[in-house]
Amino acid sequence: MEHCLFCKILEGKISSEKVYEEKNIYAFCDIHPAAPYHVLIVPKKHIPSISEITDVDQSILGNLFTVAQKIAAQEKFSDYRLVINNGKNAGQTVFHLHVHLLAGRSLTWPPG
Ligand code: AMP
Ligand code: ZN
Repeated sequence: MEHCLFCKILEGKISSEKVYEEKNIYAFCDIHPAAPYHVLIVPKKHIPSISEITDVDQSILGNLFTVAQKIAAQEKFSDYRLVINNGKNAGQTVFHLHVHLLAGRSLTWPPG
């Protein structure tokens, strides 16, 4: 997708600090960390948001979470938060599906 920030990162047109990569998934550090550890886990396929997923995306969606688990285990985090913002009013600013992995501090509930 021509105007998608995360597609540009995936194509290497915008630099990123890579954390993990596998066939369908790429993970990199958030540029404005909201916790001491803040990584974004994105499918390589351009899916704008959870609202646009279909049955064919099921394995990719599963991969997002197994990758989150792998990264957290690698970093030795037992406690962490996974966040998906869906839609502008829920805080989504980049319309390429991503899971936030936040860790390294106590996380309060509910989020703002
Ligand atoms: P969301 O608001 O859920 O759509 O999350 C988008 C995230 O992308 C925010 O946490 C931003 O800080 C992050 N972000 C924006 N631009 C970049 C970038 N160039 N590299 C890494 N993370 C970015
Ligand atoms: Zn994209």
